[in-house]
Amino acid sequence: AFDMLIVGGGPAGAAAAIYAARKGIRTGIAAERFGGQVLDTLAIENFISVSYTEGPKFAVALEQHVRDYEVDVMNLQRASRLVPAKAPGGLLEVQLESGALLKAKSVILATGARWRQMNVPGEDQYRNKGVAYCPHCDGPLFKGKRVAVIGGGNSGVEAAIDLAGIVSHVTLIEFDNQLRADEVLQRKLRSLPNVDVVVSGQTTEVLGDGSKVTGLVYKDRTNGESRTVALEGIFVQIGLLPNTEWLKGAIELSPRGEIVIDDRGATSLPGVYAAGDATTVPFKQIVIAMGAGSTAALSAFDHLIRTSAP
Ligand code: FAD
Repeated sequence: AFDMLIVGGGPAGAAAAIYAARKGIRTGIAAERFGGQVLDTLAIENFISVSYTEGPKFAVALEQHVRDYEVDVMNLQRASRLVPAKAPGGLLEVQLESGALLKAKSVILATGARWRQMNVPGEDQYRNKGVAYCPHCDGPLFKGKRVAVIGGGNSGVEAAIDLAGIVSHVTLIEFDNQLRADEVLQRKLRSLPNVDVVVSGQTTEVLGDGSKVTGLVYKDRTNGESRTVALEGIFVQIGLLPNTEWLKGAIELSPRGEIVIDDRGATSLPGVYAAGDATTVPFKQIVIAMGAGSTAALSAFDHLIRTSAP
């Protein structure tokens, strides 16, 4: 059995694996896709101390750092079930879709999240070429340019307020006939001179010139008419979905499906810790996920030295 088994090979899982392995304990990491969301990222400019890198390069460095240690790396493995210990202090089990059953004294869940997509023509083609999902990451790339934010919930309105300070103009498009963000955010939004708000708007197409975004088309749901907005960037803010469907019923999840953790990364199940975008951590960023992965591993190690026989 593993002393510590990590599920997920993004920044959070990789950090947890390195912290665990450096304690000299038996460490395993199972990941559906080692690297995680970083693999889908182009420029990374906010990983502190590294001025600029690119997602695929960063993902290779993550895996290389983990492989510097004696870690059992199980890539292309999807976990489908977490089974609590039969008795206090007993082994936890993680079932893989391949059929394998992994046993461990402690488990760290770091399965990350995925951005909900608009699923309209042009979105895939222009991802990272004007279509973006993370204002903290990509906002500065659109300095002085025109952007749209899709989604009028809290994250969309927060993104629009944030971007309005950087870009020349923001068009916020909400599908419903009213914004769903907190009133205080809506007031702030409406006070900004360079923001237009469209309600009852359904984005139907991302337009581009073959290499980058040039606009978008939305349908006015009140009369069915199509309108075109010329712009350089589109921030999609219609939800971040945690990859936790497989954990339902096994541990406590928030109403949004995030793994509920305390400030040590502990979940509702003894011996099980969690970190990164899959959890209730308030901000979803690489540096934050790595810090959380390290916290979870150190907490799990604390748990091991208190509960395991020498
Ligand atoms: P993830 O990176 O999502 O990794 C999750 C891991 O778990 C993956 O290995 C996945 O395959 C695996 N997994 C999922 N389900 C299972 C399962 N059932 N069984 C086994 N394995 C599973 N952040 C920044 O700080 N700067 C940026 O510039 C930046 N740009 C971004 C650009 C884009 C396009 C996107 C999508 C995100 C960006 N982010 C950026 C956010 C950043 O990538 C995430 O905050 C970070 O990757 C979260 O790390 P994580 O380890 O929690 O999860």
